[in-house]
Amino acid sequence: MNILEQVLAANGQFMERFVEGVHYCPENSKLPNRHLAIFTCMDTRLVDFLEPAMGIKRGEAKVIKNAGNSVTGPFESTIRSLIVSIYELGVKEVMVIGHLDCGLAHTTAESLIQKMLIRKISPDAIKMIEAELRDWIDHFHHPIDNIEEVVIKIRNNPLIPKDVPIHGLIFNPHTGQLEVVVDGYQACI
Ligand SMILES: [Zn+2]
Repeated sequence: MNILEQVLAANGQFMERFVEGVHYCPENSKLPNRHLAIFTCMDTRLVDFLEPAMGIKRGEAKVIKNAGNSVTGPFESTIRSLIVSIYELGVKEVMVIGHLDCGLAHTTAESLIQKMLIRKISPDAIKMIEAELRDWIDHFHHPIDNIEEVVIKIRNNPLIPKDVPIHGLIFNPHTGQLEVVVDGYQACI
């Protein structure tokens, strides 16, 4: 079975359990009832691990993810998601959660470009994004530095209201421990 078939087979079993009522599935509002947005990394070790480690359940928080929990511009996709979360969905606090051993700290723009060229990506297409790529990937040295920078970027974004605390936390993907890097309440007016 390929991965698509595996997922569909698992979904069939899930639906059977759901119909039989064995798997409890509450009717949740799309509004996060803990009024929280979590912005974290796409790392696979965080799947089905970060939220339980935080005591966050289905229906309680918006979860936004990308590679290295990065913010790369004043109106890029994370900022857009936060704006919708805050203004339309009742989010009152934001947690930026990086993690130890983040893969982005070990990747370079040069390495990515070489792999793109091997996969026959057009050099012209690479040239178009090269400066932005280097600015993003080569700037990521340590997850804690990145958390601090991302918190500042969100905090200082003119579209984010000042009464929304922006917290920064670091997560250990091996032990599940969370530590505060930036206490967003301190910076709030
Ligand atoms: Zn990561």
